[in-house]
Amino acid sequence: MTQFLFPPSPAACVPIVGDARLFPVHRIYCVGRNFAEHAREMGAEVSRGSPVFFMKPADAVVPPGRAIPYPTQTRDLHHEVELVVALGRDADGIVSIEQAGELIFGYGVGLDLTRRDLQAQAKEKRLPWDTAKGFDHSAPISELVPADEVSRLGERRLWLEVDGALRQQALLSDMIFGVAEILHELSRLYALKAGDLIFMGTPAGVAAMQPGDAFRAGIDGVIEFSGRINQASNHHQEREIPWA
Ligand code: MN
Repeated sequence: MTQFLFPPSPAACVPIVGDARLFPVHRIYCVGRNFAEHAREMGAEVSRGSPVFFMKPADAVVPPGRAIPYPTQTRDLHHEVELVVALGRDADGIVSIEQAGELIFGYGVGLDLTRRDLQAQAKEKRLPWDTAKGFDHSAPISELVPADEVSRLGERRLWLEVDGALRQQALLSDMIFGVAEILHELSRLYALKAGDLIFMGTPAGVAAMQPGDAFRAGIDGVIEFSGRINQASNHHQEREIPWA
């Protein structure tokens, strides 16, 4: 029997609508600049060249109902509401656009929380975005809805409210790169596996959240979730086990 030097970290997990089982997270891939209006508001060029990818650690996910602490080392925490695609099968090498759908287990809605001040500094110095994007609790997410219960995704509205005020909304058909194209492009760079989550990029309207702010996010007719930004985090507090 395998012996570990210390107990391995428990798998990060996301609950599933209508299923008592949990979705164990393997990796979190994120797409940047996938809505033209948002790319423009960030001062970036809008192009269909190659999609921009970055990652968050798997244990950045915060399942619905769990505390989301305001992160350390920022004064400008931004919300980015996004469609999240959850993979239920491993890819066999490069995935064709025609076959990409076969990998998908389901969909959710999530927040790509961003330390915008650190991201601006990184962009200015041409440094990586990791501290701006890949921090603890940076990926709050809804329950997942199995793909066979979701139809006409492109016609649906993605939205976010903060303290009752609408901050972001767009039709999913407004994404520059669609889900199949993104899975194809990612599969050229990485071995896609069951358990991968893909945050598909955010519409215009990103803005700051303060400790105490409550949010509601959803995709019309698919899923909705809500949460609150808590007071500043304390890295030394005991870690919550997401499903305990
Ligand atoms: Mn994003």
